[in-house]
Amino acid sequence: MAYDRSNVFARILRGELPCKRVYEDDHALAFHDINPLAPVHVLVIPKGEYVSMDDFSATAPADALAGFFRAVGETARRVGVAESGYRLLANSGADANQEVPHVHVHIFAGAPLGPMLKKVAAR
Ligand code: AMP
Repeated sequence: MAYDRSNVFARILRGELPCKRVYEDDHALAFHDINPLAPVHVLVIPKGEYVSMDDFSATAPADALAGFFRAVGETARRVGVAESGYRLLANSGADANQEVPHVHVHIFAGAPLGPMLKKVAAR
């Protein structure tokens, strides 16, 4: 799938839409999810144009990959959940119900999060 520059996270990166920023560096931007599903729900996005984790992991240069994952850890520390714990989620593609076609990681935290995933039956 080609990258769509009109997606909402691309618009946030260009400053066309606001966000509640938590952390930013050369590689990544982190901001609060507009519809939080946990007491802490932050999104971390790389600054490059990558549709999904599949695309990012296959095509991004090593410094972009390393910088992004360092930013995920730094974001968790900045919001104060590194000690108490957090869950990372990256929806990639249709079966994962990825809504925004710019790769992102969700950080969920701030309370016990319960089981990893409700058991899903095969198609
Ligand atoms: P996903 O299903 O993994 O693509 O999740 C996309 C996430 O982006 C959802 O949790 C939305 O609530 C969140 N989201 C959509 N638009 C915005 C926005 N303008 N600012 C912050 N979060 C957003």
